[in-house]
Amino acid sequence: MKKIKKILAIGILTIIITACSSSTGGTDYVYLCMGNKSIAYHVSSTCKGLTKCSTSLKTTTKDSAINYYHRKSCRFCCR
Ligand SMILES: [Zn+2]
Repeated sequence: MKKIKKILAIGILTIIITACSSSTGGTDYVYLCMGNKSIAYHVSSTCKGLTKCSTSLKTTTKDSAINYYHRKSCRFCCR
């Protein structure tokens, strides 16, 4: 039982560490609010930065969010 818990803990930790890593390339998916005042991309679809969004959400790659949509990382969900 102890071994399983350890594997689970490492797994969760890995997810947390890699969620906002900028070195993993463009395969991470992020969320964009399509309102014209939006300047950030979000790693969490439930981020409080997205609750203010009145328009539709778009799911795209992080690479595309930065290079095509010119978004910056969200200060709430991507520190
Ligand atoms: Zn966010």
